[in-house]
Amino acid sequence: MCTVSFIARQHGCLIAMNRDEKLSRAKGLPPRLVAVGARPVLAPSESSGGTWIALNETPAAFALINWYSVKAAVKTNPVSRGLVVQAVAVASSAAEASQIIARLPLPQINPFRLIGVFAAQKQVWEWRWDLKTLVCQKEPWRSRQWISSGFDEPEANRQRSKTFQAALGQKSAGRPDWLRRLHRSHAPAPGPFSTCMHRADAASVSYTEIIVFGRRATMAYWNQAPCQLKSGHQLRTDGFLGARKAISPRDILGTAFDDRLTGPPRRTTLVGLPGLEPGTKAL
Ligand SMILES: [Zn+2]
Repeated sequence: MCTVSFIARQHGCLIAMNRDEKLSRAKGLPPRLVAVGARPVLAPSESSGGTWIALNETPAAFALINWYSVKAAVKTNPVSRGLVVQAVAVASSAAEASQIIARLPLPQINPFRLIGVFAAQKQVWEWRWDLKTLVCQKEPWRSRQWISSGFDEPEANRQRSKTFQAALGQKSAGRPDWLRRLHRSHAPAPGPFSTCMHRADAASVSYTEIIVFGRRATMAYWNQAPCQLKSGHQLRTDGFLGARKAISPRDILGTAFDDRLTGPPRRTTLVGLPGLEPGTKAL
């Protein structure tokens, strides 16, 4: 139950994700900069530790959606799909990601689709796991969406894709404000098929946005329904390329600089994002 948008650009890309979850599930935790191996990774997380979207310094981004169209499910002792992005988040190439995925306990992980964006190489890859086979496929560097729904996946795909295609024709298409409007869209009506999803028992509960320009990448995260976006935090990461030593996996939220990185440049800034501009129309 999620919508991931990928917007291709000449010198980078935008990635946005609505996380759709059961309302009974614990809220996610905002992004933290953590060291996975020796590589800094930015990711929000579930209270249990896994995550659904991550960004590393190279910059590469990963997002995972459940694959509901596959009916097969793990019968005993399932391992959370949140582990997949957490593990793969360090990868700087599709080959590296594939090696990491192959080492995961896949037979215990329910069906998923994992999207990997390697901005430096201008490559998009998708891994699909259906509990039988892991398929890895290179996708074109072209704007598109990935959609999942536990309610009616084919219909959610049809409706949200219609909204996405219509939005691509707008003058502001590809801009961050356009992307936010798209992700809080209630077309055709607030419900299971709208991009900002609302059901009695589940809804879009958070919005994550990654913007890559050249070697600079930012992640912004709002822990609320996208249609209620008012304030949030933007974590800007750059300069990790000069880091020679691993940072400790401590939360650095709220600190202006991360002194634990060695070697210039060492900037990690936390910037409060003002609310969305008033007057922007829902799609
Ligand atoms: Zn909404």
